[in-house]
Amino acid sequence: MELQREKRIGIDLGGTKIEAVVLDCDGKILLRERRPTPPPMHQAKDRYQAILEAIAALLKEATAVAGPDAPVGMGIPGSLRPGSGLVQNANTTELIGQPLGRDLRELTGHEIVIANDANCFALAEALSGAGRGYNLVFGIIMGTGCGGGLVIGGQVRDGPHSIAGEWGHMSIDPAGRKCYCGNVGCIETKISGGALQKIYQEQTNEAIGVAELRKRALGGEKAALFIWEQFLEDFGRAVGGLISILDPDCLVLGGGLSQIPELYTTGLEKIHRYSFSIDLKTPLLANHLGDSAGVIGAAWLGRL
Ligand SMILES: [Zn+2]
Repeated sequence: MELQREKRIGIDLGGTKIEAVVLDCDGKILLRERRPTPPPMHQAKDRYQAILEAIAALLKEATAVAGPDAPVGMGIPGSLRPGSGLVQNANTTELIGQPLGRDLRELTGHEIVIANDANCFALAEALSGAGRGYNLVFGIIMGTGCGGGLVIGGQVRDGPHSIAGEWGHMSIDPAGRKCYCGNVGCIETKISGGALQKIYQEQTNEAIGVAELRKRALGGEKAALFIWEQFLEDFGRAVGGLISILDPDCLVLGGGLSQIPELYTTGLEKIHRYSFSIDLKTPLLANHLGDSAGVIGAAWLGRL
């Protein structure tokens, strides 16, 4: 029975898929299951109910391997409001305002530790990925949007409003674009994958992905090159400022854009320019765990 307790369950609730893993005490994956997230429905409450049931079904499969007493953690695209426990800031909007933890406890009998998915990414990379061995790890996610998480001494720093690490919604340009969060010129409106696509489309009337934009920029296409240079400049400004505030021991990049080689060369030079140090040594690391970081980090949440 003692061995059973050392296994842990992680769940990653995403907009398109829900994934569950069972880890053994060394972090080895014993089980991995995914299923599609129930799609948007006519009634928001119906989708919410379908999501609860999909999580419960995955949890049942996981507990069959991990045992009924294994700790369970879950990452969500949002966070829980301290006090009420209601979901906030979720881009799967059916979750907003719902008592997700309480509903899952009633449905499954499990007490689930719930955290923001970017925090789960940062935690996994800090404990068993690129950030292993560093004390203060800042995990940066650059995908469709810009998210982030802060881990100090192996613990997620959540903050009194559960928004620690939300660097993507720092406004850096009062003349910039409107962000869905209500601010103007957020970092996310300048350097996320979604922003780059939008900016290019506004200028050329052509919808292309980030990989194609990069190819065109490197090939010398004028519009693409201008956007690309601005992107690296803004990346440097955003991350350089972050380093000046936190002075982290390392930064780990995740999300689709983390595969862009120029972030680690020109982007890093720009970071140096914008940080408050003439001798910056902060390592800028590509993630080690890829897509799996979120669900593995969720499992580690339940370790306390
Ligand atoms: Zn914003």
